[in-house]
Amino acid sequence: MTEFELIKQYFASQTEHRADVRIGIGDDTALVNLPAGHELAITTDTLVAGVHFPIETHAYDIGYKSLAVNLSDLAAMGASPAWVTLAITLPNADENWIQDFCNGFFTLANRYQVQLIGGDLTHGPLSITVQALGHVQTRQALLRSAAQPGDLIYVTGTLGDAGMGLAIAEKRQPVQDQDVRSYLLSRLNRPEPRVLIGTALLKIANSAIDISDGLVADLSHILKASKVGAKINVDALPLSPELIQTLKHEDAVQMALTSGDDYELCFTVPPNKAAALETELTNMPCRITCIGSITNSPTLDLHNKDGKPYHGSLTGYQHF
Ligand code: ADP
Ligand code: MG
Repeated sequence: MTEFELIKQYFASQTEHRADVRIGIGDDTALVNLPAGHELAITTDTLVAGVHFPIETHAYDIGYKSLAVNLSDLAAMGASPAWVTLAITLPNADENWIQDFCNGFFTLANRYQVQLIGGDLTHGPLSITVQALGHVQTRQALLRSAAQPGDLIYVTGTLGDAGMGLAIAEKRQPVQDQDVRSYLLSRLNRPEPRVLIGTALLKIANSAIDISDGLVADLSHILKASKVGAKINVDALPLSPELIQTLKHEDAVQMALTSGDDYELCFTVPPNKAAALETELTNMPCRITCIGSITNSPTLDLHNKDGKPYHGSLTGYQHF
């Protein structure tokens, strides 16, 4: 197949068609309509084989995750995802591979009514660049820089699972139980971007970030941008039963604090909006957990439930 035939057959085959897309794939640019009173939210991420995912990762998972990490960034701003472009560099035109990639990509895109509106296809070492575009009401987006002392700090879902999934994928950690193994691998390969939670947090949260590099690293971005500190109770960190079953407790906690790729949201909420948050999130697909609060002093204080300082390493998980 030629480049154009591949585009037509696979990349232009999405079933989702948004009313706000006037021109999608096929012209020199796409043309879309931004709703009145909204700002455009734009993010991009590149995934390189062997760097951002193990070389043997399944094409479906690469397609899924290359979009998921971008939708997660939009969610962290409270933006509604709408459009996406895809620049893909392939070592060869393996149609089975492309079909699987598109299945993963479009499964997630359709779930959130995101339309692929353009891209590029080139020959070379496998690399995928996705740009996701969304919209959010003017001046309502959740910024890293707006956390306030006294805010409660929450995270969605559970932490550390994807880090454990990577340890399994890289054969650093044998896990015998097949259900546990496949849960942890799916948390690595198919993270659920917290799109609905992100938009539900508008007008409730003061600040938000998505956890791509690990809780401590990403929360620190909020603290720095907002010129505040935080107190975190490490015993409150949400850990999955699968992670608890796989690691010693102290290692699970360290994984939850430092390992990346979970794509959960970390956000801060003023105490007088905590009740509104509970109401808003009763219909949401995942749990949220309060893990601490924002402080005036410019430090990150990690302690256990008895108030004793946390002494584990924070330099990433090196045990295997
Ligand atoms: P141009 O040469 O004008 O950049 P191309 O010939 O590269 O256009 O692409 C033709 C059309 O197909 C464009 O609308 C482009 O956005 C789209 N396209 C190319 N590659 C992809 C892809 N991998 N996924 C989706 N759309 C693509
Ligand atoms: Mg081109």
